[in-house]
Amino acid sequence: MIHRVSRAAPIGILGGTFDPVHVGHLRLALEVYELLNLGAVRMLPLNLPNHREPPVVSAKTRLEMLLSVADGERLIADDRELRRGGISYTIDSLESLRVEFSNHPICLLLGADAFHGLCGWHRWQELLSFCHIVIVARPDADSALDPRLQRLIEAVQATDPDALRDELFGRIYFQPIPLLPISSSDIRLRIAGGRDISYLVSSTVQRLIEQRQLYRSAD
Ligand code: ATP
Ligand code: MG
Repeated sequence: MIHRVSRAAPIGILGGTFDPVHVGHLRLALEVYELLNLGAVRMLPLNLPNHREPPVVSAKTRLEMLLSVADGERLIADDRELRRGGISYTIDSLESLRVEFSNHPICLLLGADAFHGLCGWHRWQELLSFCHIVIVARPDADSALDPRLQRLIEAVQATDPDALRDELFGRIYFQPIPLLPISSSDIRLRIAGGRDISYLVSSTVQRLIEQRQLYRSAD
């Protein structure tokens, strides 16, 4: 008889600025939820980013937009980075999630653009001691890969997604999903240019943006 370690369903983590949350984020979360049989995908809006301009709209409003699209079962809005305040480091969130979900594998979902910047993240070498990394392709992601990331992939890549259930952390997996060339920065530019953003964001998010007149100026 083969004994497999019985573990709880893997939890997906999708961090981002969500300024605003759009259909590219939601399809990414839902595709991976279904394809990898995740227990849920927790979406974590960051408070303040380390290496880029602060978000255009407030943390409260970004969370409100996220709450309007999260069903609370498959997609969960997780505000731990907002509650923590200050600059948001993913490693800090992973530390607290690891305690909360001690028996669950954790899958950090990253678009290829985010993965390519990984070596700039605070304590990036420790990330894989807390979670797996699941990478999805993103249109226009930079093609040059840092050699350190290349070596990491060679060392820990899983080609069989079962590894993400059997182990709690430590693997890198590439998950193919349909490409959607949608980004928050493009949506902000469209709003500032007076264009219609229907179908790029949920109707709830669109309504919120219109009612509060968010993103009207380009800066
Ligand atoms: P901005 O243009 O302001 O950077 P964004 O659209 O890139 O916004 P983020 O909040 O920066 O959104 O992204 C959060 C995460 O979602 C990142 O890992 C990013 O790669 C991923 N992501 C965002 N949009 C897509 C998309 N259309 N396809 C695949 N991954 C995406
Ligand atoms: Mg981005």
